Amino acid sequence: MITVQHLVKRFGDLTVLKDVNAEIRRGEVVSIIGPSGCGKSTFLRCLNLLEQPTAGSITINGVDVMDPAADVALLRQKMNMVFQSFNLFSHLTVLENLTLGPIRLKGQTRDQAETRSMELLRLVGMAEKADSFPDELSGGQKQRVAIARCLAMEPEIILFDEPTSALDPTMVREVLSVIRRLARDGMTMAIVTHEMEFARDVSNRVFYMDEGVVYEEGPPEVIFTAPTREKTWAFINRVR
Ligand code: ADP
Ligand code: MG
Repeated sequence: MITVQHLVKRFGDLTVLKDVNAEIRRGEVVSIIGPSGCGKSTFLRCLNLLEQPTAGSITINGVDVMDPAADVALLRQKMNMVFQSFNLFSHLTVLENLTLGPIRLKGQTRDQAETRSMELLRLVGMAEKADSFPDELSGGQKQRVAIARCLAMEPEIILFDEPTSALDPTMVREVLSVIRRLARDGMTMAIVTHEMEFARDVSNRVFYMDEGVVYEEGPPEVIFTAPTREKTWAFINRVR
């Protein structure tokens, strides 16, 4: 579904991504792990062009996303992102946060958008908060709303950038259980996370990023117990 070849990203003199090569298949859950500052967020942000890649190619379903003629808004609908900091619109209710995109960008009527949004709020256990404002919610509730908002755009893949690292432990669980459920339903996802146990049991594959590349990748049972490269091994030992 997504193919990344020789992706390079520089910020001035700093080369964050040197040569990233990766594939994500439809229905697959990929976890991305690695030391802080190794470029995990930059990688996700390049995929949906929140950052402009310096070089290389990214295709989604065979279509080159870096083609200047590509529709970036459509790309971001197909490859929607959930952020650590939720990024909800604070002046809109929960329901309005969900309906805004489908009405403005997908041409849905208010009725259509509200019906679907309520279904999604039920899915994440937030229907009773439809008329609340984001400030009235806990962090875990905000993140579940953010995930529902992401789903309202009917993405083909969801990119998660440390969706639980701003949350305390009870809230981490409620958010991870929503993500697990999406995985069971066959949603394609790429998840940057520090939750190693979660990564281990939700992922089909794990990418360990270091030195500006996908340094090692493999099934979770290999990466977490018997990685073949030294830096992966050192990282896994440090975090577990
Ligand atoms: P990670 O998510 O793995 O912690 P990031 O992708 O956020 O790492 O950052 C990788 C490196 O790129 C860091 O050194 C960071 O300071 C730098 N970086 C990220 N975004 C920018 C930016 N917009 N401008 C300059 N440097 C940046
Ligand atoms: Mg990051």
